[in-house]
Amino acid sequence: MNTPEKLFHTLLGLGDDWEITELEFDKDSGEVRLRIHELPCLLPQQRCPDDDGETDLYDHGREREWRHLNVFEHKCYIQSRLPRMRCKSCGKIFQAKAPWEGLNLHFTAAFESMSLLLMREMPVKKAAEFIQETDTRLWRILARHVAVAYRQLDFSETTCVGVDELACRKGHNYVTIFADLVAKRVLYSVPGKDSSTWKAFVKELEKHSAKAEQIECVSMDMSVAFKKGVAETCPQAEVVFDKYHLIAKTNKAVGDIRRAEIRRGGCYNDLKLTRWIWLKNPENLTEQQADRLKRIDQENLITAQAYQMRLCLQDIYQLPRVERAESRLLAWCRWVRQKAKHARYGLLSIMVKVAMCIEKHLAGILKHWEHRITNAYMEGINNMFQMVKRRARGYRNDENFIMMIYFVGSKLKLPAVDEPIHSK
Ligand SMILES: [Zn+2]
Repeated sequence: MNTPEKLFHTLLGLGDDWEITELEFDKDSGEVRLRIHELPCLLPQQRCPDDDGETDLYDHGREREWRHLNVFEHKCYIQSRLPRMRCKSCGKIFQAKAPWEGLNLHFTAAFESMSLLLMREMPVKKAAEFIQETDTRLWRILARHVAVAYRQLDFSETTCVGVDELACRKGHNYVTIFADLVAKRVLYSVPGKDSSTWKAFVKELEKHSAKAEQIECVSMDMSVAFKKGVAETCPQAEVVFDKYHLIAKTNKAVGDIRRAEIRRGGCYNDLKLTRWIWLKNPENLTEQQADRLKRIDQENLITAQAYQMRLCLQDIYQLPRVERAESRLLAWCRWVRQKAKHARYGLLSIMVKVAMCIEKHLAGILKHWEHRITNAYMEGINNMFQMVKRRARGYRNDENFIMMIYFVGSKLKLPAVDEPIHSK
């Protein structure tokens, strides 16, 4: 006879060692409960985890409950008292493992896999609502799985590292992210943004079959803290000041100049309505924006001049050869200074600061032409981080936030949802 118990036994993939002794649907709570008991043939297979010795049944542990995947729309729980075994040689007492157990006390492996799948697609809070669990429990599932998978990562091939500091909350809450620019994945993340983050990073490398000496190039912004960090921990590494940060800096200068020009009473309408135009490249403007830009009195608008400066700087990065790039960069700096002399109210002095910065860090900026490919992922880190923020909305501690960074960015090996219990 194919009883419902037998059917569920097959669906769960329980195999020969376990049986479902009770199957119950509580109409009031709308919950399904399966009681599972081991069969005698399970016991002789149990070996001592310390010395692989033979064991006897000692007793049964306390009643436990694991949430499993829903049965149709009903919450489903597995209940069991797992056998406790005693080693015949050393006397150690341990609990037999059940095939449905996840990494967390209250969930089956299949339920955890599904939760992870959901959290990959939506914010934790939303996933929690969807499967009717608290987000605290979902965070716990995420943290356990990420911790296990992260420990197994191997960094022995890593040679090019990108580092960036990112603000995770309003105010001054920063995390620093270290990434492998070739493998395009996050290696390490830690709260803070000072040079000590580098020491922590190097320590972590050692836990993943890697060492500081293998780092050949480091891509980063021009912050003093990171420069110090690299010098102290990876002195052999070549430092590249990456394109992404330099363009972002120039972009910010254009925005600052625009605001300053508005304060000075310059063409209010032209400036107020064009905030987004100045952040884009001409080829990305909408038709309407391009039209507006054309009608603006570009000659007299300092913001328009600053915008042209940004576009020119960007163009320099298209040059194939480093010698040419060097002379163009220096020419750019001279041009900015020249223009700034004649600009109203010294509005271009903000751009002169960018020029000074370029001159000061020229060697590192020119390294871009040597390590071109590796720079592409620096912007990728930033995009990845924006996704982390969306997924982690409402997170309550830094560890969770960093777990989410690894979850989204580290290419971890995590269990897939369609893995049945017995395939483990
Ligand atoms: Zn033993």
